[in-house]
Amino acid sequence: MESDIPYPKILIVDDVPSNIEVLHQALSGDYEVLFATNGPDALTIAGVEKPDLILLDVMMPEMDGYQVCRRIKDDEATRQIPVIFVTAMNEEADEARGLRVGAIDYLTKPVSVPILQARVRNHLELKRRGDLLERLALMDGLTGIPNRRRFDETMEREWRRGLRTGNPLGLLLMDIDYFKQFNDHYGHSAGDHCLKEVALALTMALTRPADLVARYGGEEFACILPETDREGVETTARNMVQAVARLEVSHERSGVAPHLTISLGGVSMLPRRGRSPADLIQAADDCLYSAKKTGRNRYVLEEDA
Ligand code: GH3
Ligand code: MG
Ligand code: MG
Repeated sequence: MESDIPYPKILIVDDVPSNIEVLHQALSGDYEVLFATNGPDALTIAGVEKPDLILLDVMMPEMDGYQVCRRIKDDEATRQIPVIFVTAMNEEADEARGLRVGAIDYLTKPVSVPILQARVRNHLELKRRGDLLERLALMDGLTGIPNRRRFDETMEREWRRGLRTGNPLGLLLMDIDYFKQFNDHYGHSAGDHCLKEVALALTMALTRPADLVARYGGEEFACILPETDREGVETTARNMVQAVARLEVSHERSGVAPHLTISLGGVSMLPRRGRSPADLIQAADDCLYSAKKTGRNRYVLEEDA
């Protein structure tokens, strides 16, 4: 039976195909098994397929397992993948060296199938929990959307990408209008519910996979728009104003409309040396301040920076 939950992916790396076959036999019933017969191929597959676990032979021509492991652990994109060394060498020094370059465990050939299966299961379970914790650490507890930490990390990454590619980076800062009055009038839990609805509406208003909406603070949200010029920022700002208006959340105490509204500040900036994400945030924040000052329920964009 096909399952909707993907099988965990295991990458087996060994220069001897018959060794791969033994491991494949032991694991293929429970896992999606990928394989490579040399180090460079292993690194490529690890980067593209992001396996959940790698079983790595030590003795290989060209690039040995230690080198492969070090490269996997040096690359931010593959660092979190656990590596188990599988090797005929069983001297203490080899084992220590393997663990020192970042392997999580060590199996000696000939491999015992039940021990292999048990260790693989244990390490995959640890990996699953680690992934879950990492996801939770980057998620806002109330709304379920990315939190401030994830925003900061994404901002840094997109800024560096913009520096490399020369593409502009867009940012919107958004703040719910008269939200204190909303809480005072409808109660704090209605306020919480409202924040969830707004978070969802803003997220649904995104159009590109790389765009990100995060909860920036209490009733403030932020939207990162990679490779987006001023016009793109304006389109998104307009969409977000509409997305919140369309929720039609009554707000009798709003000073600007009968329903809940947001104000936005937006900017598109070319990342350059001598500038930083803080400059982008400051510029968007200044615009948000103007949007509030000039009446709320609107967006203000900075002239091209
Ligand atoms: P403005 O239009 O100028 O933005 O006014 P405001 O009332 O929205 O802004 P102010 O900063 O004075 O108030 C923000 C309010 O947001 C106060 C705070 O209680 C509320 N708030 C912040 N975080 C949460 C939350 O997690 N849940 C709820 N229910 N309210 C929150
Ligand atoms: Mg505020
Ligand atoms: Mg507010």
